[in-house]
Amino acid sequence: MKLCLPRIEISLSKIQENARILCEFYGKKGISLMGVSKAVLGEPAIARAMIAGGVQFIADSRIENIQKMRRSGISARLVLLRTAPSQAESIVKSADISLNTELKTLEMLSYHAKAQGKIHQVIVMVELGDLREGVLPCDLVAFVRKTLTLSHIQVIGIGCNLACYGGVRPDRRNMGMLSKLVNMVQNELGVALAIVSGGNSANYEWANSGQAIGEINNLRIGESILLGCETVGRQAILGLHANTFQLVAEVIESKQKASLPYGEICQDAFGDIPKFKDRGIRQRSIVALGRQDVLTAGLKSERRLEILGSSSDHVILDSENCHLQIGDEVNFGLDYGGLLSAMTSPFVGKEFVGGEHRETVRTNPTPVGAELN
Ligand SMILES: *Cc1c(COP(=O)(O)O)cnc(C)c1O
Repeated sequence: MKLCLPRIEISLSKIQENARILCEFYGKKGISLMGVSKAVLGEPAIARAMIAGGVQFIADSRIENIQKMRRSGISARLVLLRTAPSQAESIVKSADISLNTELKTLEMLSYHAKAQGKIHQVIVMVELGDLREGVLPCDLVAFVRKTLTLSHIQVIGIGCNLACYGGVRPDRRNMGMLSKLVNMVQNELGVALAIVSGGNSANYEWANSGQAIGEINNLRIGESILLGCETVGRQAILGLHANTFQLVAEVIESKQKASLPYGEICQDAFGDIPKFKDRGIRQRSIVALGRQDVLTAGLKSERRLEILGSSSDHVILDSENCHLQIGDEVNFGLDYGGLLSAMTSPFVGKEFVGGEHRETVRTNPTPVGAELN
């Protein structure tokens, strides 16, 4: 079978193993996991690998991804991480649980839940310093009180999200605050909150530090499962696979060239004025990969290959120490941005490796010349 290029090779067995190890680690602390699938477009095969590894929920920020997983028969409970009033009807239809911070949206969710004969479960997100989504702590009790009056909404938990926009580190203080707020809501309103969702992949260090976990009994984990690292300092987590995804592209030119462009230097394709170091004549290779396929800053090459730069459709490599010929395949590792962009590009084929079968999936539109299968 001919494989498409460029393609992203996805190891389901490594993803499953990462999920299993993390579920064990967090499980010992009484913390359940939601596997977050947004960086992989809610790819059902990846969600299944996470479930096989032990996650109890699958969470995604896009309703389209939730719908895709629902259609494919994913068994775990599906959690929508970001809601919008205009999507209330489809949210109630496809998601079991959603994260919310606005009363208007909750009212619309309740309205549509009633129409669909359902009770929609929600987790209320509280702001603890990162300044992305969240009800202010001083408003939380009143907010939950109002939410409890909505006939077709059930408040099942409180959550918070850090280290995303503001880069705020989860620590004893903000996590302690979350526990305190949970107790306050439970005591003042007489409700039992089943889920206290304390954060994301940035919570690893906090959880591993041996300090009190408090009321927190859930985390929403994407990057740690997918790329094997925590996200406060992007440190590898011992025992996890970091090479679960490989982006493979084809060499389309390989020549000895000067390392310093000649002629008058003006703006490059993206409006920047580039700077170069003169290293004399070097072997350079071009791979058929560019910013239409991947956020090229998110590519990681093996040590013998140096990524010199990129444009929409070309990545230029210094291949002096690595004999590359036309038609050769080059593998790149990916960081989170690279993964997200490669999974989103219609030009990148997706291939599952490891386990029994190889299976190629291509999202549309299908680039010319690609083999479908
Ligand atoms: C993306 C997201 C997560 C997962 O973050 P990771 O760093 O990938 O673990 C968790 N919660 C919310 C609300 C998110 O948007």
